[in-house]
Amino acid sequence: MSANMESTIMEKIVSLCKRKGFIFQSSEIYGGITSCYDYGPLGVEMKKNIKDYWWKNMVQYRSDIEGLDAAILMHPRVWEASGHIAGFTDPLVDCKKCKHRFRADQVDTPGVCPDCGGELTAERQFNLMFKTFMGPVEDAAAIVYLRPETAQGIYVNFLNVQQAARRKIPFGIAQIGKAFRNEITPGNFTFRTREFEQMEMQFFVKPGTDKEWFEYWKERRIQWYYKLGIDKDKLRFHQHNEKELAHYATAAYDIEYQFPFGTMELEGIHNRTDFDLTKHKEYSGKELSYFEEATKERFIPYIIETSAGCDRTLLTTLIDSYEEQELDNDTRIVLHLAPHIAPIKAAVFPLVKRDGMPELAHKIVDSLRLNYMVFYDESGAVGRRYRRQDEVGTPFCITVDSQSLDDQTVTIRDRDTMQQDRISLDKIAQYIAEKVAVPQI
Ligand code: ATP
Repeated sequence: MSANMESTIMEKIVSLCKRKGFIFQSSEIYGGITSCYDYGPLGVEMKKNIKDYWWKNMVQYRSDIEGLDAAILMHPRVWEASGHIAGFTDPLVDCKKCKHRFRADQVDTPGVCPDCGGELTAERQFNLMFKTFMGPVEDAAAIVYLRPETAQGIYVNFLNVQQAARRKIPFGIAQIGKAFRNEITPGNFTFRTREFEQMEMQFFVKPGTDKEWFEYWKERRIQWYYKLGIDKDKLRFHQHNEKELAHYATAAYDIEYQFPFGTMELEGIHNRTDFDLTKHKEYSGKELSYFEEATKERFIPYIIETSAGCDRTLLTTLIDSYEEQELDNDTRIVLHLAPHIAPIKAAVFPLVKRDGMPELAHKIVDSLRLNYMVFYDESGAVGRRYRRQDEVGTPFCITVDSQSLDDQTVTIRDRDTMQQDRISLDKIAQYIAEKVAVPQI
């Protein structure tokens, strides 16, 4: 596929997101603000569904992981202990001619501006953490940071959770929440933004069992993307080499997806060893080791981390599921979203706006909406209504026609096969429930 075609796909996704209400530019009426996005009516549902799919598989369907929702603002010492104040930096270079700014590690020819060929400045390290002040006095003592990852909220709560939930090692703590990074080069729509949501799980294990658990989580996490319906051929693992490994990790793999703009990271799986708890023990002066009753051993647990981005996952599913088909002299746009993450599960149409069909259709909507997002539509030809739902990934369209009033049946159309089945009214709820259930990985 040519570069031109590829960029067109991204343009189409951005346009669909705005037109249909998935994602808008933040503060658009003021001209927008770089790299900040708002999720519209469909986007917010889809994001909620992705988080729900993650939470169910990482917490609810398991017996060894607890949930947490820690504050975004934390004690500033946390970021000293974690190494973020000293080392959470990217190398920044500026073009002396066009003044554009780049991450030095993303420039192809060192010293040469990729945009105008001008000379680049020497590298300087730029800390990615957003700083702000707590309380009314804006001095050095009041500096706090917007968290650049959710993980630290988990580490500092390790003992709280372990004791409150009466957990034995191995066990994990999962959290979904906002993170902020003052990225030098945000871009590719929601792929790299300065405010984003992470879905992170930290699994605490006995040293010596870490390699095994690392392999286990690597496998679990790729399965999660497979069951999200993402094209397996576009997903791959990338193992970090010595140079790429973070200072705290002994092993790291990224799950990558082949985006139209390059093969990029969706999730990181890291063996963080005992680095985090050792550092927090040192900086806080609190004992963070764990006593294992069975063996009478005391140790600092090792941590296996799985760190995924919610916004990146959502963008990936939109790109991966987008299809244009030429049908009846028209272009049919379909999002083949996995039913469990589709924003609307079913749309209900009366074939015509009379003869009691709207009333029956409303009755179906009212009963289904107790469990799912459903949509009622009576405007325009039924074919057009199907197309509108295909474009936003609604997996099922239910049509009430004149036969429905006689024999209490409706047609139910599948988005992907476009096949229509006739089923009785009392079977609709079960039919939908089976197809949209959140799968277990
Ligand atoms: P990258 O190499 O893309 O900058 P990273 O290695 O810094 O990412 P991690 O610190 O491992 O990323 O963060 C875990 C996950 O959080 C990433 O895999 C990604 O899904 C998400 N994420 C990180 N930074 C951003 C961002 N600026 N915008 C959106 N999502 C992000």
